[in-house]
Amino acid sequence: MSQAAIQIRVNLPQNSYNAIISSGLLPKTGEYLRALVESDRRVFVVTVPPVRRKWGKKLMTSLNAAGLSAELIEMPDGERQKKLATVEVLAEKLIALGAERNAVIIALGGGVVGDVAGMLASIYMRGVSLVQIPTTILAQVDASIGGKTGVNLRAGKNLLGTFHHPLAVLIDPGVLATLPEREFRAGLYESLKCGVIGNPELFHRLEKSKVKQLREDTAELEWVIAESVKLKAEVVSTDERESGLRRVLNFGHTIGHALEAESGYRRFLHGEAVAWGMIAAANISAAVGRLDTETTNQITKSILSFGSLPRVTADGRKILRLLQSDKKTADGKVHFILPTKIGHVEIVNDVPDKIVVEAIGTIRNLS
Ligand code: NAD
Repeated sequence: MSQAAIQIRVNLPQNSYNAIISSGLLPKTGEYLRALVESDRRVFVVTVPPVRRKWGKKLMTSLNAAGLSAELIEMPDGERQKKLATVEVLAEKLIALGAERNAVIIALGGGVVGDVAGMLASIYMRGVSLVQIPTTILAQVDASIGGKTGVNLRAGKNLLGTFHHPLAVLIDPGVLATLPEREFRAGLYESLKCGVIGNPELFHRLEKSKVKQLREDTAELEWVIAESVKLKAEVVSTDERESGLRRVLNFGHTIGHALEAESGYRRFLHGEAVAWGMIAAANISAAVGRLDTETTNQITKSILSFGSLPRVTADGRKILRLLQSDKKTADGKVHFILPTKIGHVEIVNDVPDKIVVEAIGTIRNLS
């Protein structure tokens, strides 16, 4: 059984908030929200059908038991629904239900729901309150923390977005029990990423973990999620708007995003592309003399030990071209987040093209 709830503060110049992590938290949501939400405010839960079927009733029962007036509105599932049209349809539903400026929107779901409901909350009647209840590992350790919202355009991912911090993030690792194993693993790579960036103990404990056992070990899972959230919360608290330090969170994302784009967002789950991206970044770091071979192999081995990843078939030159046209590229220079040891990364923008192409060759050979 789990111990007391873990509380992590996201400190901001304005609107600081807590992330609360506890197994069995979802059915207690009402109790937690009563302290944050006055009883005359109406609550609107945005979710997708697979999550509603598993967890919708538990959440609604808890909200109603706490005396909160709550309604559930659905959006279709999937990354393809992360578009402005979905935000508009949800906003029309809110209007039809009579949602006013003091409404509270709860995002119940993975990163897609978090991003769409977050964006909706940030612009509905010029902004209403938001509570994040993330239900995938990826959303629990990454997407729900930090206030970034967004939708995709045909030209690329997350090209429209806002910053809109929630009132609170309520994380119940128990809801991960219904998550398909592939999704579970994909999220876990983001935790491993946090370990490499700044938490050696997290890395070493994950390195020794078996995914199946971790799924069943509530206390360890809570610890892994809490440590990952702590790292993200610290980084976000220091750099709310991603002007500097926050970019370290993009370790593995430079090449990861390019792999996702090159494969039309069909082959890899986000975390899987990041996993390959982390291996590539470790190899780049080794090639430019910033990381020793032993640690490079250790990072590679720990990632591959979680299970098989979709194959990389991309051509290195094509990936390089994509990187050079990415929105995160500044001054035509590609920024890489390179590990120098477990627990430390550096931002580097002068990696020779040849080394990038070679690193893509390495992950292609490993796959
Ligand atoms: P997702 O939201 O599509 O969820 C994956 C699948 O799992 C969906 O089919 C969903 O219905 C299902 N699901 C969710 N929770 C479940 C549960 N408990 N039981 C059973 N099924 C469940 O994908 P994701 O990986 O959570 O999120 C990816 C998105 O997050 C991407 O769009 C990415 O851009 C975004 N993201 C945003 C940020 C940010 O800072 N805003 C950060 C990282 C990622």
